[in-house]
Amino acid sequence: MGTLRIRADRRLVAGLLNLLVLCHLTPMVFSVSVRAQETSTTVGRPPQRLPDTRRPLDRARLGAAGLQVLESRRLLLVTDVPLKQVQGIPEAVDALFDQLQQKLGVLAADASGKEFQVTGYLMDAPERFQEAGLLPDEEFVIRHGRHLGYEFWMNNQATDYYRRHLLFHEFVHCFLMCEHGMRDIPPLWYTEGVAEYFATHTVNPLQFGILPSGETGFEGWGRITELRKTALLTDATEPVTLESILQPKSREFTSELRYAQAWGLVWLLRTHPQLRPTFGELSRVRTRREFDTVLQRLTPELTVRLKIVWLLLLDSLEEGYEVSHAFPELDPKWQIRDDTSDTSVQIRVSADKGWQASGLFFSKPLDITLSGSGRCAVHDQPQRWEAEAQGITLDYAHDRPLGELTAALVSRDGRSVVRRIPVGRGCTLSVEANTELWLQVNDSDASRSGNSGGFDVQIELKAGGRNE
Ligand SMILES: [Zn+2]
Repeated sequence: MGTLRIRADRRLVAGLLNLLVLCHLTPMVFSVSVRAQETSTTVGRPPQRLPDTRRPLDRARLGAAGLQVLESRRLLLVTDVPLKQVQGIPEAVDALFDQLQQKLGVLAADASGKEFQVTGYLMDAPERFQEAGLLPDEEFVIRHGRHLGYEFWMNNQATDYYRRHLLFHEFVHCFLMCEHGMRDIPPLWYTEGVAEYFATHTVNPLQFGILPSGETGFEGWGRITELRKTALLTDATEPVTLESILQPKSREFTSELRYAQAWGLVWLLRTHPQLRPTFGELSRVRTRREFDTVLQRLTPELTVRLKIVWLLLLDSLEEGYEVSHAFPELDPKWQIRDDTSDTSVQIRVSADKGWQASGLFFSKPLDITLSGSGRCAVHDQPQRWEAEAQGITLDYAHDRPLGELTAALVSRDGRSVVRRIPVGRGCTLSVEANTELWLQVNDSDASRSGNSGGFDVQIELKAGGRNE
């Protein structure tokens, strides 16, 4: 009896918490999720999903109120937008469901054998939905989209792409929350990041969890633009370091930057070949405790490496980023350099790769000189150019000559990066303590695969180093 009673209490708590909704793009989100986490005592995959408590719809009454109903196996869509704006969306949601089952794990069954289906309310004029009694209570503020149990509500969006994107985003939340409700959920950067990851899609072919190839066809998305815009501001009001995502100072999760960071980090963990083995199990995670178990693999050493890869990614991520050529290596081999080290090192920098570790880590402040020699071929479209280390001024990338030998100094605490220092044929740099030297041939990381060759880079520690 005791066990039964505990179970009953847990179900009651679950039901109540399920009413305390996770909202999307509202400050209420975090207080709700934190309360949910504190109250939770249950961990692990339940044998059954939460009951589907959606009310039956009176379609004739909805029709009279100017609302149309479209239905597929996984989505019941109630809307007042022109039908051409929602063409194909219910079928696309069916495909998304299959993809989520494959990538995030098969959902627990419903106790009554009911199929998983979600009702979405896509609204041009919310008052119509209000009058039809389809909105939740007044305190349930819907700025863009929100979900609750097996339902979500969203305002119509200005672009076809972002209308679908936001709808998919809310559907992913419903999928992930239908087993535990709002109990014990992972941190918001992760739950929002996963929803953003799978919502990012192409229609032809229908694919989810992709990296946009350009801005056309992804109107209204703008996550990369947001990340790069903020990363390049030295006086950014919100920090862009990995730490600021994993341990945010503010509980508010409303800004475009927060959503962009959440997407970017989940995308990185799911895509970088050296991170996937460590974080692949995040895919199966539903609860905070499961999440924390996987995140324990983020050792202090790995955290440092991830912080640096994150900063370098912010510098170079763009639509069409070629992951097989452009990702910085997670943990290259480093030689510690100080004022007693050998004074000369030669390394090779390839044109077909993004940021490459020089292998040199400076534990003390030093002056170093770099000089580049050799030739490489860059940019096979629209034309193939031959470049020496000073680059060519026939074409530009990142506002500098294409093919120019370029350096970045990254602090090992992952807090700062001195970006894109033009090296060319040669230059002298003052390097602060605890700094890694990274190099690349200047080009877009969306067009590395056509490049070949590279530069030999001679690095000299200046005699006597710096007096600090
Ligand atoms: Zn969301």
